[in-house]
Amino acid sequence: MWPIGVFASIGSGLGVQLDVVKELGIHSVQLCCPHKENRTKENAESFLKKLKEIDVTISVVFCDFKGESYADIPTVKKTIGIVPKETRAERVQEIREIADFAKILGCDALGIHIGFIPHDKNDPDYAELIQIMRDLSDYLKQNGQRFHLETGQETADGLEQFLTDLHRDNVFVNFDPANMILYGSGEPIPALKKVAKWVRSCHCKDAKWSDSPGETWGAEVPFGEGDVNARLFLETLKEIGYDGPLTIEREIPQDAARQKTEIMQAMTFIENVKKEIL
Ligand code: MG
Repeated sequence: MWPIGVFASIGSGLGVQLDVVKELGIHSVQLCCPHKENRTKENAESFLKKLKEIDVTISVVFCDFKGESYADIPTVKKTIGIVPKETRAERVQEIREIADFAKILGCDALGIHIGFIPHDKNDPDYAELIQIMRDLSDYLKQNGQRFHLETGQETADGLEQFLTDLHRDNVFVNFDPANMILYGSGEPIPALKKVAKWVRSCHCKDAKWSDSPGETWGAEVPFGEGDVNARLFLETLKEIGYDGPLTIEREIPQDAARQKTEIMQAMTFIENVKKEIL
């Protein structure tokens, strides 16, 4: 129960590199998917071989698209996922290709930030996004795969509504408690309880609330040092019966040394809580 995982990348990306995964002694990763030009069968097979050598399995392959930026909340609205209209068609096609790439990697879950879904159910784009996600979910199902939607951009109520309207049995949630705070979408622990039945993976990430939630970013901080209440987060995961990987995410690839140190800090924090509550 609860193997420690880490968010990892091949080449560029927000995650840590495989040599760091090995050094940290971690055996589970969520993989930030490489961009189109590197998503070849040969690359997948050679990557898989490397993973085998260090005894690492991939729990979730995460979609990552060119042109996405998390610089600030307005930029996220404009650039992330399948909500922006200019890039929608090409990204929808890419998701199918990423699913096929993940299949070669032997991974049955695809993680995605779909972007800011309209809050108003009567917005015509809401229905269009539901239809797109239904088609994609059906494609994944044929591949024997699930979708894990990353939390943050929606409130728990909004996410529950979207999942209910989607009405597909292979769509779940990747719960990131820090994102709820960073995006100003609500208190993470009640949100986790609300969407509990959909939670199939999670990010151990922490953050502090901004002065203007929903308008400006809060600050991402090491797991255990923010407003998530990391211990209660783990206790609540136990309470809802979650037994999958605890994937540490620390998105500061520009400072690899600090990223590694803070991941190690998170590992120690998690190990200590595990000893007490499991
Ligand atoms: Mg996350």
